[in-house]
Amino acid sequence: MPQRNNIYFFYKKEPELTSRVDKLIEAARNINYNVVEDASEANIICSIGGDGTFLQAVRKTGFRDDCLYAGISALDRLSFYCDFKLDDISSIINAMDNEEVEVRRYPTIEVTIDDHASFLCLNECSVRSGIIKTFVMDVYIDDFHFETFRGDGMLVSTPTGSTAYNKSVDGAIVDPLLSCMQVSEIASLNNNHYRTLGSSFLLSGDRRLTLKVVQDGNDYPTIGIDNEALSIRHIHDLHIRLSDRKIKTIKLKDNSFWHKVQRTFL
Ligand code: NAP
Ligand code: MN
Repeated sequence: MPQRNNIYFFYKKEPELTSRVDKLIEAARNINYNVVEDASEANIICSIGGDGTFLQAVRKTGFRDDCLYAGISALDRLSFYCDFKLDDISSIINAMDNEEVEVRRYPTIEVTIDDHASFLCLNECSVRSGIIKTFVMDVYIDDFHFETFRGDGMLVSTPTGSTAYNKSVDGAIVDPLLSCMQVSEIASLNNNHYRTLGSSFLLSGDRRLTLKVVQDGNDYPTIGIDNEALSIRHIHDLHIRLSDRKIKTIKLKDNSFWHKVQRTFL
């Protein structure tokens, strides 16, 4: 059994960053944390970088729900997944040592492609035309045919992903305490022949969204799961639902999701 204080640091091994991280590693050891080289042995996984790094840290360590993730910003500012600043080691150590932190649980979504390959997402899954032509998908909510989409693509975001790509396409920002997923359009074509809802919508955790790619030759969309692209040819169906897996992260007590929204956008 791993010890309770096994900690793993995920970061880009660039010389400048490594020397800054080394100071944090030393400080962690001084308060009796055991720094491990294998993420599967860790109870705490620290991502050091930006939000993009945090997404990678969670993906590369397998979306574990039996450990805590902590985001540490390598920049001078905090971001959505990073509650601590790398150059403020004393407050990181103080928070860890005095347990001045709370744990929050972030919903994730599960994407299944053609009933075999499954992927989890912490921000969103996006499905976009891989070529310059429009892309057509039949959209089902559970087994109900809801609409036929034609345009650039669609994205399905988690609550924490709602401040990322989803916001750029005018989706709503969703409190991560709500377990739901948001479906948004990317440049839908609307005229007397083609009609889509035109606004984003939220689906409860009990629903399943199915996107059936119309097999008209444009059946090789670009699928993005957070910051990775999937390269799968000739896609028929994508099933998307909220996953049972939640990502537990460490937060400072006075730094809620809405503090972050205000700090970033207002
Ligand atoms: P990137 O192109 O460097 O990211 C774009 C920006 O989104 C970065 O500033 C990133 O922060 C920020 N970001 C990531 N997750 C966020 C979140 N949950 N809330 C608010 N901002 C967030 O690529 P990346 O850093 O690897 O991030 C991947 C994400 O970029 C994707 O999951 C997608 O949501 C987003 N994206 C947005 C658009 C768009 O808005 N048109 C297009 C493609 C992808 P950091 O600088 O701290 O990494
Ligand atoms: Mn980035």
